[in-house]
Amino acid sequence: MDFQHSPESRDYYLKLVDTLNRYSVEYYVNDEPSVPDAEYDRLYRELELIEQNHPEFIVDNSPSRRVGGSALLKFDAVEHRVPLMSMGDIFNDGELCDFVKRITEFTATPQEEFCCEPKLDGLAVSLVYKDGVLIQAATRGDGKTGENITANAKTIRAIPLSLTGDNIPSYLDVRGEVIMPRDGFLKWNENARLNGGKIFANPRNAAAGSLRQLDSKITAKRPLSFYAYYVGECIGYDLPDNQYDRLQELKKFGFPVNPNIKKVQGLIGLQEFYKDILSRRSLLNYDIDGVVLKVNSLSTQEQMGFTAKVPRWAIAYKFPPEEMMTKLLDVDFQVGRTGAVTPVAKLEPVYVGGVTVSSATLHNEDEINRLGIKIGDTVIVRRAGDVIPQVSGVVTEKRTGNEKEIVFPKYCPECGSLIEKVEGEAVARCSGGLICKAQLREAVLHFVSRDAMDIEGFGDRIVDNLVSSGLVKTVDDLYTLSLTDLATLVLEGSSEEKTRLLGTVTATKLIDAIEKSKTVPLNRFIYALGIREVGVTTARVLASNFETIDDLIRAKLESLTAIPDIGPVVAQHIVDFFNEKHNLEVIGRLLKQDNNDLFSNFGITLTALPQVKDLNTDNQPLLNQTYVITGTLESMDRNTAKARLLNLGAKVSGSVSKKTTAVICGADPGSKYTKAQELEIKIIFEEEFLSLLSELENRN
Ligand code: NAD
Repeated sequence: MDFQHSPESRDYYLKLVDTLNRYSVEYYVNDEPSVPDAEYDRLYRELELIEQNHPEFIVDNSPSRRVGGSALLKFDAVEHRVPLMSMGDIFNDGELCDFVKRITEFTATPQEEFCCEPKLDGLAVSLVYKDGVLIQAATRGDGKTGENITANAKTIRAIPLSLTGDNIPSYLDVRGEVIMPRDGFLKWNENARLNGGKIFANPRNAAAGSLRQLDSKITAKRPLSFYAYYVGECIGYDLPDNQYDRLQELKKFGFPVNPNIKKVQGLIGLQEFYKDILSRRSLLNYDIDGVVLKVNSLSTQEQMGFTAKVPRWAIAYKFPPEEMMTKLLDVDFQVGRTGAVTPVAKLEPVYVGGVTVSSATLHNEDEINRLGIKIGDTVIVRRAGDVIPQVSGVVTEKRTGNEKEIVFPKYCPECGSLIEKVEGEAVARCSGGLICKAQLREAVLHFVSRDAMDIEGFGDRIVDNLVSSGLVKTVDDLYTLSLTDLATLVLEGSSEEKTRLLGTVTATKLIDAIEKSKTVPLNRFIYALGIREVGVTTARVLASNFETIDDLIRAKLESLTAIPDIGPVVAQHIVDFFNEKHNLEVIGRLLKQDNNDLFSNFGITLTALPQVKDLNTDNQPLLNQTYVITGTLESMDRNTAKARLLNLGAKVSGSVSKKTTAVICGADPGSKYTKAQELEIKIIFEEEFLSLLSELENRN
């Protein structure tokens, strides 16, 4: 905070109180925070320190004296019979030691037992069940009074409408967190970007905003979920006398309880839990901002009690933030292989979500307008899970007046051709086609890539120079390059490397790699052409349905759309691609045309698909089954695994859902593995997968 007063003055303190209270209203009441949590936490710590040094400054409306925000008037107010509290925060092992010391001093037990839980980043709710039926759901509000959101909570499938089991309490108040899982959040935003609609800054805002809708039909459409983590009150049933067992009991009543909750002993146990969850944070399908460490014994909890705001027997050990503030230094416009012009934010490097981020995509002009972002702005960068960093907001209050508008270029920064924006499409494209070097450079990089022609050794720098020197004007020019052309290629210098010639050694390797690529399976050749929206899987489907490239070139729109998995948009892209004369010329030059002297001959031969038998419609034992692959398989690449599954009639999907038959799991699996565990989907490891394949493939 850059107030004019000294940090030790009362004026400074009062300003801090005002600022934090304003941030709290934005966060808790409006579900639209203007600064990241890390900034709020930083200022809050500053406030705590001043209050420690100057207790005489303290005012009643200090955020340190109050829980959360206040209830919105648009909902009926609910008085909580047992208040919902906030939680003390710690940020390092030193503070953890202090916490454990306080507990052991209190209990006089050297090894206290703790129940450790992930700190879910959503919205706290209280769910009240009378005689086993959900009668009331309420937000935390200021801890004493919350909002009645019963109708909305009932739309969340993870929240039981009635308790299961014969023996149930007559009255039960269960507390837990409503969250928006990451996959649902990403899908929601992606859809909103394409089709219009509310884009959320992060899953926490999304969950809070969705739950506090006046129309529960809107809430019902949002992908929300729930985990229970505490019993506020229970009448007519003897619950166990510790937190961990109580949570197990909640499961019996039908509540989802987070699978990562663990019972541990003493400081070392707590540290190990923190490290373990932190290391798996990016694999989880929901945001967490730390771990919550609770004394397990209920009687100790009761003895220790609460301060005005937080329990003394629990603490939130926060993780490094996944949202940070930084400066937008500039915006670059990059032209992709398909001519799409993408604005890319150049950022003052910032450490967020475990990596240093210095650039982030801004998607398109609509996104720039939606964010209302300017060069020089302080922006919020978010990186959660393995997802690429995003600019999720602007901190307008940090503006100085010197910020500059971002001007979307009219002409392509690479070739000067007009940039076109098709009505109804968010993406702007360079109209330069193959004269645009950016598109050519990307087309060549795509052509040589591993899933395409797999020509090893052609990195960015070599391709850049081949294109800019004019040696490669279309992808087939790669096959006319001589050893001398390559050996004498001038590699222009950059800030990291000097200008130099490529040299004979590398040139020889490249020529060998080009030679090797002359035998290629049809699916990889189709993929290498770079037809819009024809990825590895679609190329494979096309190769299974057309015997030769000629058949594909001649295919009519109707015969393409008749193929399952080929939609009308992709089909149109395929037809358009082969209608372009220059594309056919390139293909003609690339392929061996025995009966056609018109084309020069580089001897490319298309082979059958690798390691995959011809589609065998008689042997489709996996028909109607859906598989998902995650992690790295040792014995084959992912495309081959996919192809072999398809060959057996299975569907292969990119995401895990309840409909998934099984998840094939290689080394270092991603979030799909965790999701499969959560949904209790069968997990098949590599060894079992191989024996399954060999058994099924050899049936006939
Ligand atoms: P808190 O979020 O630090 O901790 C208490 C909350 O943790 C509970 O209410 C519950 O919702 C949640 N929780 C998740 N998992 C839990 C578990 N397993 N057991 C118990 N509780 C669990 O406290 P708070 O008062 O809700 O919020 C303070 C935090 O909110 C700040 O640290 C800050 O990060 C954020 N905040 C941000 C802004 C902003 O402007 N960005 C403003 C206000 C607050």
